[in-house]
Amino acid sequence: MKVWLDGKLVDEKDATVSVFDHGVLYGDGVFEGIRVYGGRVFKRDAHMDRLFDSARQIRLAIPYTKQEIVEAMEETIAANAIIDGYIRLVVTRGPGTLGLSPFKCANPCVYVIADQIALYPQEMYDNGMAVIVAKTLRTSANMLDPGVKSLNYLNNIVAKIEAIDAGVGEAIMLNVDGYVAECTGDNLFIVETGGVVTPPLSAGILPGITRAFVLGLAAELGMGATEENITPERLYAADECFLTGSAAEVIAVTKIDGAIIGTGKAGPVTQKLLAAFRAYIATGKWS
Ligand code: PMP
Repeated sequence: MKVWLDGKLVDEKDATVSVFDHGVLYGDGVFEGIRVYGGRVFKRDAHMDRLFDSARQIRLAIPYTKQEIVEAMEETIAANAIIDGYIRLVVTRGPGTLGLSPFKCANPCVYVIADQIALYPQEMYDNGMAVIVAKTLRTSANMLDPGVKSLNYLNNIVAKIEAIDAGVGEAIMLNVDGYVAECTGDNLFIVETGGVVTPPLSAGILPGITRAFVLGLAAELGMGATEENITPERLYAADECFLTGSAAEVIAVTKIDGAIIGTGKAGPVTQKLLAAFRAYIATGKWS
C-alpha cells in the first residue's frame, strides 16, 4: 500500500510520524473518514469544508489548500487502485516539545490512507443491528465540541468499549442534558409516523455528512425530516431507528438495550432511504 505523507507517496512501511507529534502525544489534530465509490471521492467538498472548519476551531493551520488535499486523495486512490473504498485523511499538529502548547509545533503532518472498506454484512442491513445506550455521555460543546472531528476520540472509545462488553455493535451516547446525541461513529435517526427525526447539531454531535445527505433525501422523498431533541423514552418507542455514516451508509437498529424496535427487522422507511442512497450513488452523477 502507498500512503500520501507530507507531499509524497511513500510505501506503507515508511509512512511514519514522529513520537514527538502532538497528534500522538495529545490527540491534537483533526481527521476525516471519506467514502470512495467507483474510484471517486464522495461528498468531497463537504469533507474539505468540515476538515478545514475542524482545524480552524482548534487553531491548526493546514499547510495545503483544499484543492491540494483533493489532489492528494486522488493520487492515493489511483496509486492503490481503489474502486470502492475508504479514505482516512489526517492532519496532526506535528512534532513539538513535551509541553502542551500547540504553537511550538512548526510543521503539521498531513497524510492520506486509501484502503478497502470493511462493510457490515448484508444480513445486518436486513435485520438491523443491536445497540446499547452508553453510560458514558458525549462531551458537550463547552468541553470538547463534538462538531470538531478531532483525533481525540477517547470519549467515543470508552462508549465503544461499553458496546463491546455488552456484545453489540454500537453505543448510543446521550448528552449532558439527557437527550440522544449520536453513536460512537455514526449519527442516529428515528422514524415516527413515516417521517425521520434526528437530533439537532445543538445536541452536541458531529455534523455528519451522511446525516445531511439523508435529511435531504428524506425531504425529496416527501417524508417529514426534522431535527429535534430526542429523549431515551422517545427512542425506545420509535417505529424505526437507523444510523448514518460514511462507512455504514444507512443501517437499521432493531434492538436497543435488549428492547426490540419496531418489527425487529429493517423497517420500510429505513429500507427506502438506503435504496434511494444506493440508487443515487449508482447514477455516478455526483461530486
Ligand atoms: N458521528 C461520529 C462521532 C463519527 O465519528 C462519524 C463518522 N465520521 C459520524 C457521526 C458520521 O459522519 P459522516 O456521515 O460524515 O461519516
